[in-house]
Amino acid sequence: MFDSLQDRLQSAFTSLRGKGKLSPADIDATVREIRLALLEADVAVPVVRDFVASVTERANGVEVSKALNPAQQVIKIVNDELVTILGGETRRVRFAKTAPTVIMLAGLQGAGKTTLAGKLGRWLKDNGHSPMLVACDLQRPNAVQQLEVVGQQAGVTVFSPEPGNGVGNPVAVATASIAEARRTLHDVVVVDTAGRLGIDAELMKQASDIRDAVDPDEVLFVIDSMTGQDAVQTAQAFADGVDFTGVVLTKLDGDARGGAALSVRQVTGRPIMFASSGEKLTDFDVFHPDRMASRILD
Ligand code: GDP
Repeated sequence: MFDSLQDRLQSAFTSLRGKGKLSPADIDATVREIRLALLEADVAVPVVRDFVASVTERANGVEVSKALNPAQQVIKIVNDELVTILGGETRRVRFAKTAPTVIMLAGLQGAGKTTLAGKLGRWLKDNGHSPMLVACDLQRPNAVQQLEVVGQQAGVTVFSPEPGNGVGNPVAVATASIAEARRTLHDVVVVDTAGRLGIDAELMKQASDIRDAVDPDEVLFVIDSMTGQDAVQTAQAFADGVDFTGVVLTKLDGDARGGAALSVRQVTGRPIMFASSGEKLTDFDVFHPDRMASRILD
């Protein structure tokens, strides 16, 4: 994960090793390297600009320290700034006071929503909840069946459209699922919605109709991190069109660069809540900005 970014940042710090004191020229040279590393990682330009400005300001203000040498001081600053752009604190799911908690998933086709529904279902179950997955992707052939398979693997109930559950109408399916969850005492409902290959008005409308019908506690926008800044632009369009409360990064296992992960928080103002890093149900965890920053600088 993020291997090329990791290598570039490490080489940016190399010239500082062995220095007794940081000169403005050292800081300039290092910051230039960091800037290039971030741009190559496909981090959004305004995010790079702010990041570099903060690192420069802080590096110029560092006191001579007995505890840390100049290279360590700069690495610490970069680490702190990475934690900040990744969101600072870990943002946990907000569960409703009155069950069921409704979590709606949105995103482009192929981003990994259906897979995520299974992972989230299993995670919820492992954390003492009784989740129900709801198949509201009625667009893509086999999406309902795929969710049923994923639900079975995760050992989680799946609510699918049938006569009486609003066949062909995702808003009706979503609405019916809430009543069913109450009846069957499932305390979290995870609503999988249709994705398209690109942003379109119909997709936005359908997603916002579902949102209005079920009043979700969380709307998670799922992005394929391998698509870099494109993912961030899509996220921005969704933030404007549907709004969401958090982001899930998928396919981190295939992402050498890290541009989406490092940009999405600042561009959309929404926290990254979960990360998915493989096709298995267990390749999934709560997103911790501090742990991710340490991994990048490891
Ligand atoms: P959806 O169209 O958004 O529902 O996307 P899917 O859940 O069908 O996922 C699309 C493809 O990406 C599938 O082949 C998944 O197995 C794969 N996939 C999903 N999440 C991950 C991940 O974190 N890592 C990898 N390597 N593949 C993933």
